[in-house]
Amino acid sequence: MTDQSTDPTKLARRFGTPLYVYDLDRARAARRDLFAWLPEGFEVFYAFKANPHVDLVRALRTGEGPTCRAEISSTGELAAALEAGYRGHDILYTGPGKTPGELSEAVGQGVGTFSAESLSDLQHIGEAALAHRTVVDCLLRINSATASATTSIRMTGAPTQFGIDSETVAGLAPQLRSVPGTRLAGLHLFSQSNARDEDALIGELTHTIAVAAAIQEDLGVELRLLDIGGGFSVPYAQQGGRDAYPKLRDELAAALDVHFPRWREGTPRLAVESGRYLAGDSGTLVTRVTNVKVSRGKKFVIADAGINTFGGMSGLGRLMPVTVHVPTDAETEKASLVGPLCTPGDVLGRQIELPANLRPGDLLAIPNTGAYGPTSSLLMFLGRPAPVEVAVSGGRVVSATRIEHARTPVERGPR
Ligand SMILES: *Cc1c(COP(=O)(O)O)cnc(C)c1O
Repeated sequence: MTDQSTDPTKLARRFGTPLYVYDLDRARAARRDLFAWLPEGFEVFYAFKANPHVDLVRALRTGEGPTCRAEISSTGELAAALEAGYRGHDILYTGPGKTPGELSEAVGQGVGTFSAESLSDLQHIGEAALAHRTVVDCLLRINSATASATTSIRMTGAPTQFGIDSETVAGLAPQLRSVPGTRLAGLHLFSQSNARDEDALIGELTHTIAVAAAIQEDLGVELRLLDIGGGFSVPYAQQGGRDAYPKLRDELAAALDVHFPRWREGTPRLAVESGRYLAGDSGTLVTRVTNVKVSRGKKFVIADAGINTFGGMSGLGRLMPVTVHVPTDAETEKASLVGPLCTPGDVLGRQIELPANLRPGDLLAIPNTGAYGPTSSLLMFLGRPAPVEVAVSGGRVVSATRIEHARTPVERGPR
């Protein structure tokens, strides 16, 4: 596809709204920066959950410098990874509810590494591997009893569906080491998302390294791969840039020197994982104003993008109000930005700063929406079409597509 412009509002006039634009060059710039913040030799898994768009995940796999591997958690994400050219050995399969059907498909497609969330999950992975007459590498996901910092989304230290409680590993070690069809390859810890600041990130990741060293002792197996998680941060639908981590490299190296003195020789190999940092600032959401009204003295700007298009997780209290790009020296006013759905929950921002005197037809651009966009929204709710997603690179449109839902007959389901 060739075109004159990759400016989001021009693309919105061409392709319609609501519309996401993903700048693949920005995603690659984020990847380059993330590798630069890390000690040499680290691997980076891209968490497809943040945005499984095939052109985006392909961009993260290809290009100059070190490239990403894939962290996936469903057959849909597996299909996107394979379509984008990831090979089985690039892929880490994770998730607390892996079904026999999806495990069989993943093993059959050659996925090389699985993260096991419990002894029984490990056994299920082993059964799938044996059925394919193979043995797969497994990381044990650990739910650490301790944490060093408080972060916005905590996944460890409390009872959860994620990971094996760290205090039980020693007792389970003989069983964990001997599940047919599996080879214990290492550990996977993911204790935070979207860390508040660099010190919080460093505190948690260095703590994770110490926990992993203790678990290695408990297990009595030398780790080949240690995935210490992530927490790399970027504003979500707010103005601003990706966070910087100038101290991270040295702090991680120092912690590794203490706990894994042979890490520089690759024992173990080290990895982090990230979704939002890699994808977030590549995306812009353009929405069109469909109506403006005043109710009891308050202004409501009704847009064609609601929680069916963006931020469907707002129901979980995880969505900040969005900000809208306002041209410098444009006049602004406070109004609520709401979507088209027939629910009072369809709010992108209550009494936020918007350009003054918006009218039907006007376009609004919401920045930093490349992660947790369409696929984490309520796409089906109220039956509107999914947004158009346009990938651009080098000033060219690479693709313009939309997810289609269709009801189809089912004869029999997967297990
Ligand atoms: C969600 C998730 C990620 C990605 O989190 P971001 O905050 O987008 O970087 C990485 N790893 C695991 C296990 C996750 O569940």
